[in-house]
Amino acid sequence: MSAGSAVTSGPVTERVELVLAPNPGPMTFDGTNSWVLVEPGGGEAVVVDPGPDDPGHLGRLVAVAARRGAVISRILLTHRHGDHAEGARALADRTGAPVLASDGRCADGVLRGGDVLDAGGLRVEVLATPGHSRDSLSFALPADSAVLTGDTVLGRGAPAILHPDGRVADMIASLRALRSRHAGLVLPGHGPVVSEPGRVLDAALRARARRLESVVHARRGGSADVAEIVDALYPALHPHVRRAAEATVRAHLAYLDTDPDLTALEAIR
Ligand SMILES: [Zn+2]
Repeated sequence: MSAGSAVTSGPVTERVELVLAPNPGPMTFDGTNSWVLVEPGGGEAVVVDPGPDDPGHLGRLVAVAARRGAVISRILLTHRHGDHAEGARALADRTGAPVLASDGRCADGVLRGGDVLDAGGLRVEVLATPGHSRDSLSFALPADSAVLTGDTVLGRGAPAILHPDGRVADMIASLRALRSRHAGLVLPGHGPVVSEPGRVLDAALRARARRLESVVHARRGGSADVAEIVDALYPALHPHVRRAAEATVRAHLAYLDTDPDLTALEAIR
């Protein structure tokens, strides 16, 4: 995997430019990856995940679009969490572009899996990929064989599954659906671009199965409650991510209530 490599802003494919947001931290790694998508000559830009409400960062998104001869016509959110969505309203005010997301509470229009957008000739396919959160979407760019995954697949490490909004069964189904697309690139919400998605998605599925097994083992070993299981599973946990780790353990316990023998995981173990 690409662990250790730094994230740097700049062009990634012919149609995609990465603008790293200035919000590094234990949950966001180097910061949130904001994306500017432009079909060459199309004149329209799509921003995916404007990130934090930081005027300098939002200005860079506008400038990248302008450099590619485009104005921002749509703002898409992979999900509603603040590190991805907080700047959406300010960018919408600045550009007049609508905010589109799965969760209508943070958007001007609602996106659903199966929707297809055309932005100046750029085709963007909307994929429902719940798991990290219920409202998580991914966006496929067939012309570049790329898929933008938000926090469903990260450039390093495993995403939190934030129970009860996030569900392990949903995450497994979403990872399988992404795997079946055979994209050439994953453009994650945090961390570096993933150039071997098949390998990384297989690893993510196996890691999920192993995590479920380790929760089962921790319980058998006498860890009775969520806090004890977190201590057993994440020995060197940064205090800032403890709440997310607890929510993730709760999501795994909820999964085990429905599939205690992990039979649904036979294919990926
Ligand atoms: Zn995030």
